[in-house]
Order: sequence, then C-alpha cells, then structure tokens
Amino acid sequence: MSNRQKIDAMLQTIDIEYSYTKGFTGRSSLLPEVMEAMRLVSRQDFVPPNLAAMAYENTPLPIGKGQTISQPFIVALMTDLLCPKKGDVILEVGAGSGYQAAILSLLVRQVYTIEIIPALAERARELLQRLGYGNIEVRQGDGYNGWPEYAPFDGIIVTAAAAHVPPILKEQLKSGGKLIIPVGSPYVVQELLVQEKDEKGIFSTRNVLPVSFVPLTRE
Ligand code: SAH
Repeated sequence: MSNRQKIDAMLQTIDIEYSYTKGFTGRSSLLPEVMEAMRLVSRQDFVPPNLAAMAYENTPLPIGKGQTISQPFIVALMTDLLCPKKGDVILEVGAGSGYQAAILSLLVRQVYTIEIIPALAERARELLQRLGYGNIEVRQGDGYNGWPEYAPFDGIIVTAAAAHVPPILKEQLKSGGKLIIPVGSPYVVQELLVQEKDEKGIFSTRNVLPVSFVPLTRE
C-alpha cells in the first residue's frame, strides 16, 4: 500500500469511529477542514523511524521518554471539538511529537505548544521547523501555568491527563473559547471534557468520551 492509500484508510477508520461514538460526542462527522488537515499532515514524520510502517494505524505509538503520539481518531476529535477558526491563536499543553500542533497549524493563525520534557520539546521544535511549519512556537516548560506572554487564547487543548482543570488555563482562555482536556486519574480511563467560557467568563462543561492519556506531570 502506498502512503496515500494508508492515509485514506486512516481517514476512513476515523470516519467509522466517529459514527460509532456519535452518541458520546454528539458529532457524526468531522468538520471537512479538520479531515483535510488530517490528510495533509504526514504522521509518519512524527513517529520513530522503526515504527514508520505503523504510522497510519489508528493507535497511539511510543515516541520515547515514556510518552506517546495520540491515536489519530483522538487527535481528529479534539481538533474538531475545538472548532478552530482561521484567525485563532491556540495553546497546546503537551507538544510530544508535534503532530497535534501540526494539524492545528493548518487550521488557525498561530499555535503555541508547551512540552515539559526537554528532549521532546527540542525534537518537536526542530522537526516542525524542518518540515516548514512557520506558525508554531514550541517552548519547554510546565504547561500547567499556560503561556502568559501570549494569553488569552481562542482555544486551549491539553493532551495529557490532569487530575483537575488547571485554573490558570481557564484564566488564559478568551470568552467564547473552548478548553479541551482529559481529566481523571493517570493511566486509567479519564473523561475528555469540553469547557466553554461564555461572555461573562462563566464555564459550561460537557463530558465527551472516556479516554486514556499519559499524565500531566509538574515541574
Ligand atoms: N500532542 C502530542 C501527544 C503528546 S503525549 C502529540 O501530538 O504527539 C503528552 C505529552 O504531554 C508528553 O510528551 C508529556 O511529556 C507532556 N506533558 C506532560 N505534562 C506536561 C506539562 N505539565 N506541561 C507540558 N507538557 C506536559
């Protein structure tokens, strides 16, 4: 199978999983622009070379330092739940491989992404630069504290499981913005939440789906 065919198969699998989980997510299909971004970003570039053959399987894969690149369906779902718009400035906590940031970067104006493990932050920064993603900035640090210099954000996406929603991230979200975050105990099943901030700064929360993420750690 060519890479093109593998990507098409991946998109088809995401589509099928979308229809299976419709009862949870309230969404029966991906936004077309999110699907297009999933088609355009080569996941193979973001996985270790020895796992290249599995790059388009709908599964998380190890990226070193005990961390993983998320399952494509979850990346698509979280991106979709964010409802990204062209002019948006988005914060990601948990850059990992840089794959989720790459997907987002095709849909919004600017992506800021934070990674706590220095070696992963460094690798994601170099890779994204080499691949020509010009609207992503990677920083090494503890994303629990957000990124005050560029706040507030139109949307925030956390790709590691937190015991609670970090209050600072809620402060760094614009009114009308969405925060997508898995909350619960590490290494078991967490709940993927969408928290939306209204014009008065009041949050509404929707539980979307049980998920399993690596833990959000602290510096
Ligand atoms: N979005 C990533 C998936 C990364 S897995 C991708 O597309 O590949 C979650 C990542 O969050 C791991 O790399 C982990 O090191 C990082 N992480 C955990 N706690 C963090 C924190 N407090 N701040 C920033 N990154 C954190």
